[in-house]
Amino acid sequence: MSITVDSELCSGCGACVASCPYGGIEVIDDKACITEDCNLCGACVEACTMDAIIWTKEEVGIEKVDLSQYKGVWVIAEHYKGNIHKVAYQLLGKGRELADTLHVSLTLVILGDAFDDQLEELSMYGADEIIYVKSKILKNYYSDLYTKTLTELITENKPEIVLIGATATGRDFAPRVAKRLNAGLTADCTGLEIDPKTNNLFQTRPTFGGNIMATIRTPNSRPQMATVRPGTFKKPEAKKRKVNIRQIDYDYSEKDSVTKIVKVINREKSKVNLEDAEIIVAGGRGVGKKENFKIIEELAEAIGAEIGGSRVTVELNWIPQDQQVGQTGKTVTPKLYIACGISGAIQHLVGMENSDIIVAINKDPSAPIFNVAHYGIVGDLHKVIPALIENIKKVKSAED
Ligand SMILES: Cc1cc2nc3c(=O)[nH]c(=O)nc-3n(C[C@H](O)[C@H](O)[C@H](O)COP(=O)(O)OP(=O)(O)OC[C@H]3O[C@@H](n4cnc5c(N)ncnc54)[C@H](O)[C@@H]3O)c2cc1C
Repeated sequence: MSITVDSELCSGCGACVASCPYGGIEVIDDKACITEDCNLCGACVEACTMDAIIWTKEEVGIEKVDLSQYKGVWVIAEHYKGNIHKVAYQLLGKGRELADTLHVSLTLVILGDAFDDQLEELSMYGADEIIYVKSKILKNYYSDLYTKTLTELITENKPEIVLIGATATGRDFAPRVAKRLNAGLTADCTGLEIDPKTNNLFQTRPTFGGNIMATIRTPNSRPQMATVRPGTFKKPEAKKRKVNIRQIDYDYSEKDSVTKIVKVINREKSKVNLEDAEIIVAGGRGVGKKENFKIIEELAEAIGAEIGGSRVTVELNWIPQDQQVGQTGKTVTPKLYIACGISGAIQHLVGMENSDIIVAINKDPSAPIFNVAHYGIVGDLHKVIPALIENIKKVKSAED
């Protein structure tokens, strides 16, 4: 790809300079000149009213893909110690929506061993088909064997969309598979929709430090691959449905992998389970100081909630890191999220905005958290929360 300026057509107006976020174009002697900071994004091409900027997009070495050959939505399930990761169920919910919009089938792919007894349960979450790649060695995760097997399966079956959990393992094999397939991959998506005009997958994710939500499409390659963080979408209701199960036996042995698993060490379990919590009370800088978090704990105790917080509260050492909600913390979808003294920065919102009901307590009526809140209480949390607790206790004692 290259960008050049036709100096005959260039009027030197500078619209291109203003449009470039990288300082990749300058006006010298009344003519636009491309600098070494240009990253070929093409913003200047669109800004130029004189058609003086020429964007040559010859795609050297990239094969033209016959998009019509690709059909269907796939979800890749991961597992640990024989348990399917919950993100697989959440992706099945979103995958079903996408498949219905495209009028195609939804397939769940599992690479593992001893899942025979779980297939019936798994078939209740929206898939039309389950591909079960069975191999003793795949009881554990092998980066290279996942990459090889999935690349082979995708090449053979040609799904148009492949969804993967943005977990430690998903983040490992997804880009490897995408590279081998020459496919586009968008990591850590917070939104997935079908473009009604082109049927391409719109993949939304935070970018530029979370300050902008970018919607990305991969119109020229297939499959369209996306990873999604656990908790971004909801697990669908279980419903009995007829599912076609395809078992493929792979005769892998340890010799087939460059990795040898010596020991599987259990991760230390986090004391809080924000991702599965039904109610979360979260505190922000507005709480004031570490000692004041007691008030958040009291409210959480009164309603049986887990405690979360903004990144600021983690940085200030008021709460542990595993309680941080947001882009660089946990993505949560509780039934009730009470945000106390949290401004509602985009990096926080992406981690909690899919909660069923959001209540915000903030003394600033223009705090952005109120844009996503279903109920807002404008006031000092040190007055509002004790009043809430008192009322909750009254209601509870009246019920007893
Ligand atoms: C790359 C990147 C990643 C990030 N990741 C995350 C992330 O994962 N999670 C996250 O949370 N942030 C994240 N951030 C930080 C984010 O941008 C914000 O700085 C942060 O969320 C602000 O936290 P806060 O709302 O607690 O504090 P502030 O923005 O300072 O807001 C405090 C709020 O409390 C209110 N308040 C003050 N006193 C009271 C009172 N007595 N009663 C009621 N209200 C009161 C104020 O009106 C204000 O709205 C990230 C930033 C970057 C650049």
